[in-house]
Amino acid sequence: MSDLSGPVLRLLLDGQPRTRAELIDLSGLARSTVTGRIEELVAAGLVVPSGEAASTGGRPPARFRFNPEARLILAADVGATHLSVALTDLTGEILDRSTTALNIAKGPEAVLSAVVRAGHALLKKAQRSADDLAGTGVGLPGPVEHSTGRPNHPPIMPGWDSYDVVARLAGEFAGPVLVDNDVNIMALGEHATAYPEVEHLLFVKVATGIGAGVISGGRLHRGAQGAAGDIGHIQAPGHTELCRCGNTGCLEAVASAAAIAAQLNTSTSQDIVELVRAGNAAATAAVRQAGREIGTVLAACVSLLNPSVIVVGGSLSQAGDSLLAGIREAIYARSLPLATTDLRVVTSRTGRDAALRGAAALVLQHQLTAS
Ligand SMILES: [Zn+2]
Repeated sequence: MSDLSGPVLRLLLDGQPRTRAELIDLSGLARSTVTGRIEELVAAGLVVPSGEAASTGGRPPARFRFNPEARLILAADVGATHLSVALTDLTGEILDRSTTALNIAKGPEAVLSAVVRAGHALLKKAQRSADDLAGTGVGLPGPVEHSTGRPNHPPIMPGWDSYDVVARLAGEFAGPVLVDNDVNIMALGEHATAYPEVEHLLFVKVATGIGAGVISGGRLHRGAQGAAGDIGHIQAPGHTELCRCGNTGCLEAVASAAAIAAQLNTSTSQDIVELVRAGNAAATAAVRQAGREIGTVLAACVSLLNPSVIVVGGSLSQAGDSLLAGIREAIYARSLPLATTDLRVVTSRTGRDAALRGAAALVLQHQLTAS
């Protein structure tokens, strides 16, 4: 089976049908090279004939287009208490999915076995085989060494440290297995789906914890140890609350859903969201203040990275305008005008799909853009 990389396929990824002559012009490759590559891609089902272009005399030239369902991607979003698994096509569009309640603390064997079962069930339902997969993308709720796919001292994932996630899944499904932390894949998913033209984007997840994914120059930045964007443990000015990391005054200890829930004597993000939606004044004020604390930290990120879009996602972003208003208030008060002239601060458009779309994007970027 031919691989998914190379300039001819890359030119067709936008979905536009093209003739051989157009592909030769655009790629700068020799006619024989382009013709040979199209034959390979058609044989693999990745490219299909798509009508004919207008004739300029003689036989009208055939057009070819990308076939996004030639292969599928298995995307898994492993949360602290849920597992979502989806099949996507080669554009990252979700074709089918299943979601179950599952505690990450059950350990890698139990959780990854559930991923395998869900993956095979979705493939069977779609009448496709494990060999039809271009790869598997997995998001985990903790730090991951992306090059090996192994969790790196994850705080809420007992038994997962250094576990070989790739080896466990590679035997089950065709193609590479790529693993990253949940915030990075949400950033990738939001970027690929809603802002493909934006070069500098910051995705902020506000849920039980707080973290960010950094897209700069069009690509995800993970940092030296995969810890880039871990803004939850930056100190919130003037605070001394004890954080689960052992430090005091961390943003997460002050402004996460867990911190707000403790103030309001509730327990989950969903409780807070419901209180805000019901017009509860204390909940609304607490969420807005959390937004200000997050915005103060983000103002420093704005100075450092100069993003043009900050996307706020995660379960607490469902609380509506209060969180966003607090974040905007602090960012605009603390940033220089040049950095905020064209800055948009918005709620996630992909919502719950961000992680699944991002897990697919991990595989797509690996497979389609390698040259
Ligand atoms: Zn901390």
